[in-house]
Amino acid sequence: MNDPTVLEDPHCPHDHSQCVSDALTAAELVCERAGARLTTLRKRVLELVWQSHRPLGAYDLLDTLTREDDRRPAPPTVYRALDFLQEQGLVHRIASLNAFIGCANPEHVHQGHFLICRTCRVAIELDQTLLQPTIADIAQQMGFVVEAETVEIAGVCAHCQEAA
Ligand SMILES: [Zn+2]
Ligand SMILES: [Zn+2]
Ligand SMILES: [Zn+2]
Repeated sequence: MNDPTVLEDPHCPHDHSQCVSDALTAAELVCERAGARLTTLRKRVLELVWQSHRPLGAYDLLDTLTREDDRRPAPPTVYRALDFLQEQGLVHRIASLNAFIGCANPEHVHQGHFLICRTCRVAIELDQTLLQPTIADIAQQMGFVVEAETVEIAGVCAHCQEAA
């Protein structure tokens, strides 16, 4: 992946199990550094969010957990696990889809900037250094204090345009 604009292009053929294991390794590191505990459930939830490069809704997550295990975890427990993962920067919340996506670069605290394909539902995270300075500049000019700057750009990815 040589394109510097995206952290990774999920449409490039790749070994996705590598994405998952990299994400889990990074998660261990981030949690250790923060003195936070990556419990079995938190880890399992992160793994499920990483099952693809498509944002996953909390309901889908609960469904899968229920199918796997007859002792279904209580929804609040799962929501708390998602909150935890979000606080640690391990997942981003995609508000427009009410869903969560794993972050491939959680070692560096950042807000999420995404291109989201409405056809295949893949969310491509942009390198945040592209937009962040512009957003910071504009905010400064307007005397505006930025608290959140998640960017969700909806459209159709190159891959799906080709397939159409
Ligand atoms: Zn992958
Ligand atoms: Zn990210
Ligand atoms: Zn697409």
